[in-house]
Amino acid sequence: MAGAERTEVLAYLALGANLGDARASLRGATLGIAALPGTRLVATSSLYRTAPLDATGPDYLNAVIAVATRLNAPELLVRLQQIEGQAGRERPYRNAPRTLDLDILLYGDASISSTALQVPHPRMAQRAFVLVPLAEIAPARVSPAQILEVAGQVIERLAAPWH
Ligand code: ATP
Ligand code: CA
Ligand code: CA
Repeated sequence: MAGAERTEVLAYLALGANLGDARASLRGATLGIAALPGTRLVATSSLYRTAPLDATGPDYLNAVIAVATRLNAPELLVRLQQIEGQAGRERPYRNAPRTLDLDILLYGDASISSTALQVPHPRMAQRAFVLVPLAEIAPARVSPAQILEVAGQVIERLAAPWH
């Protein structure tokens, strides 16, 4: 089906960066995502600072955004990976510091488990840097019990606007 004929799906995306000008990378990524075909920005969380989880390196900046998109999930993933590439993303080893990481958290109510794409994101429930900003813009998608599970992780909400 051609993109313009598809109905919109509400997707939630996690943005993270801890190399270079992370704030500028997240802002640029948000602009790039909003400009994707058949895609519009619906909501943006605050910006959060978090310590690396299961990894070393500088602190991260994280945010979650909501988009309404006519791209299907694999198309959206390819587009996000292109934007990561434009930001100089390299993958020397697992959980390495990165200029930009864009993950699909939720794609409507879809359950996807292909090799290249798992949705809901399989590790989102373990991560305060995902759950806290997601709860800010989609409180119905995160339970208080889930937030309690990650309460031991340090996460700082930054007041300044970023996008
Ligand atoms: P994590 O997935 O634990 O957050 P990561 O983001 O550092 O780790 P990447 O190196 O960015 O991992 O991505 C590895 C692969 O994960 C990608 O090539 C992609 O095919 C796959 N992947 C599976 N599900 C998703 C998803 N929901 N969003 C983004 N990538 C996904
Ligand atoms: Ca990730
Ligand atoms: Ca990723």
